[in-house]
Amino acid sequence: MSGRVEKSSRSKKTLYRLSLADRIERCGVDVMPCSFCEKRNLRCRMMEGVSRCKECCRRGRSCDGSGVTLSSLQRINAEEDRLVREEEVAEEKLLRAQQEVNEALSKLMRLRAQKRALKTRGVDMVNRGLRSLDELDEQERAESDAVVAVQSQGGVGVIDWSSVGIPGIDWDALGGTSQGVQHSSSSAS
Ligand SMILES: [Zn+2]
Ligand SMILES: [Zn+2]
Repeated sequence: MSGRVEKSSRSKKTLYRLSLADRIERCGVDVMPCSFCEKRNLRCRMMEGVSRCKECCRRGRSCDGSGVTLSSLQRINAEEDRLVREEEVAEEKLLRAQQEVNEALSKLMRLRAQKRALKTRGVDMVNRGLRSLDELDEQERAESDAVVAVQSQGGVGVIDWSSVGIPGIDWDALGGTSQGVQHSSSSAS
């Protein structure tokens, strides 16, 4: 009689544990396996607010499950993968940008060197031009000095009129209207 009662009570408890396990199966989520499930390679499932996993509940034993859901672990893993990918993309972008900066910098330096060379050439040209002008001025001054010197000694016809741009004019035939041609003694003789 008492044996039947014990047996009945045991099966009642077993049934109760089974229904609890069933509840956890329905409402719970897969978690990082507790050591019991891990050793037996069982799917460990826990329900929020309950400290034992389904398998431990079913066997009426204590459970050391952490309750960390596999989905949250998967989320963390996926998030990590995403960060790694984004990091690689950002690094590639940075390398490209750095390369572009380097190219732009060397182009700028080339342009500056060309500008400097051009400026130097310009200065040289202006200096050469000024020297030529000075030489011309000097030459003209020397010529006019020579003309004045000859004229002061009564010389005429020393001006090379073709050099002042009116070639071929016979100044004597025009009646000696030009200054310095009047009273010319050389043309009269
Ligand atoms: Zn478990
Ligand atoms: Zn457990």
